Amino acid sequence: MYGQDAPSQDALLLTPSSKDSNILQCHGTPVYQYDVIIVGGGVAGAALAYALGKDGRRVLMIERDLSEPDRFMGELLQPGGIEYLKQLHLESTLDGIDGRVIYGALTLVGEGQRLQRYPNRPDSGRPYCAIGFHHGRFVNNLRRAATELSTVTARQGVVSALIEEPGRGRVLGVSYIPSDSVPRDTVGNTGNLPGPLPAFAPLTVLANGGLSKFQRSYLPRLPTCNSCTYAITLRDCELPVPNHSCLVMSKLAPVVIYPISSHETRALVIVPHHVRKMYDNDIRRYLMEKVVPDIPETIRSKFIEGVEASSLRFMPNLYLPPSRCAHNGLLFLGDAFSTRHPVTGGGMTVALGDVVLLKQLLSPQVVPSLDDTRVVAARLRVFHWKRKLWSSAITILAQVYIQIMENQGDPDFSILGFALAEYFKLGGTASSTPVGLIGGVYTNPLLLLYHMNAVVIYGFYRFLISSDSPRTFIGNICRALSALWAGYNLVLPLVWAQLF
Ligand SMILES: Cc1cc2nc3c(=O)[nH]c(=O)nc-3n(C[C@H](O)[C@H](O)[C@H](O)COP(=O)(O)OP(=O)(O)OC[C@H]3O[C@@H](n4cnc5c(N)ncnc54)[C@H](O)[C@@H]3O)c2cc1C
Repeated sequence: MYGQDAPSQDALLLTPSSKDSNILQCHGTPVYQYDVIIVGGGVAGAALAYALGKDGRRVLMIERDLSEPDRFMGELLQPGGIEYLKQLHLESTLDGIDGRVIYGALTLVGEGQRLQRYPNRPDSGRPYCAIGFHHGRFVNNLRRAATELSTVTARQGVVSALIEEPGRGRVLGVSYIPSDSVPRDTVGNTGNLPGPLPAFAPLTVLANGGLSKFQRSYLPRLPTCNSCTYAITLRDCELPVPNHSCLVMSKLAPVVIYPISSHETRALVIVPHHVRKMYDNDIRRYLMEKVVPDIPETIRSKFIEGVEASSLRFMPNLYLPPSRCAHNGLLFLGDAFSTRHPVTGGGMTVALGDVVLLKQLLSPQVVPSLDDTRVVAARLRVFHWKRKLWSSAITILAQVYIQIMENQGDPDFSILGFALAEYFKLGGTASSTPVGLIGGVYTNPLLLLYHMNAVVIYGFYRFLISSDSPRTFIGNICRALSALWAGYNLVLPLVWAQLF
């Protein structure tokens, strides 16, 4: 219920749920002060606040810390993400952040190297490009764009619980502990720090990141994690190919290096949990002993300087396939909803693509009032299925890529790595289409299917003809079949988890 005719909020009683400390039950009918409450003002939350606010929806965005984030995740936006920003009319958020254009990637494996570029645009023939930047500067611009709209209210605070209808029904809003200046009428004149405040809206969007505590209460799946990413900053470093990221296949796991400003280059070192254990958490020693020798000589000294100077911050690499939240009035978005390995830098692109789709599906022409539970639920069902079409390719490729790279010591995975490398060597679309899929430029899942099968056929053919005698040929057939089995065991569960 909206507006003046509704009973006063004072008549409401909020009681903790006996089963779940993340949930409050609301006795009485609340007044909706907003159309949408968005929890989290990261890439997903801020972009959605802007998109819905622009459509005239009254949005409350609650963010734990509204100052410029100092994080090393989300520093490379793929070309697909840039296109989504354009569709949201948010491309200006990439201005003034000292971003660096990236046209492709140089992959270094032992002595070999391979340069892969994003495909060309069909209209102008000019290449698609990604952009590297400081995550915090970009997010700041997104938040500014959202809060400049009169329809969007941003509050700094932590959402501590969701408010539900009794009987675990519809989500009616959130309870949050504000940490910014609180209007007098909401806390009274006591002068005390405010306790939790309720806020009500017919739709609550949880965009509070991959470690959202609400996943446990509302989603059938939870994130898993078997590696971390460590961040190193390289100062004034010339990459082997300018305006191209550099992927180094180190002995135990890959390192991704790309520019994030005119003077800074980011190196992200992926460290599987078993390696961390092997080195007794002494990551600096691991970096110096195992990673540094694989870093190209031209940038090795900068890398070492970076390792010595950095405080070695790290983040967990989460994997969470998307799943539908069965509760009316609630939607998960961004990393809270689904995550993939960061090695291919696809997270922000998926989040922005989801925002574009949500804006279309919830447009006021189609859904005049978000209070219409039945219509909103139907639109969110469409969202859940439609997004799979394009987001699955980005996620599947990220997971397949990292598994192959992390397991090069395994005979099956080393054959899969060989097949992939041989296929990419063909060049042309064999190289640019997979990069286009990773970059979110191509969104047709059939392209993924086609290229995966082509890798198997061509890569395994190359593997078999590399046999130097009939005897090794027979042995190689057995090895190829075993690798094929490992490949399908890797891919099919990923496809299943993304699609169902
Ligand atoms: C190491 C690493 C590197 C990555 N590199 C890339 C990359 O190069 N390119 C790319 O596209 N993606 C990358 N990603 C993924 C990308 O960072 C995420 O997909 C993206 O940031 C998701 O945005 P989000 O808004 O969903 O979540 P987040 O960016 O995590 O934002 C969540 C927000 O919610 C707030 N919040 C949390 N809890 C609460 C609460 N209870 N109340 C109020 N506010 C709350 C947080 O303060 C935060 O601001 C990387 C990820 C990792 C781990």
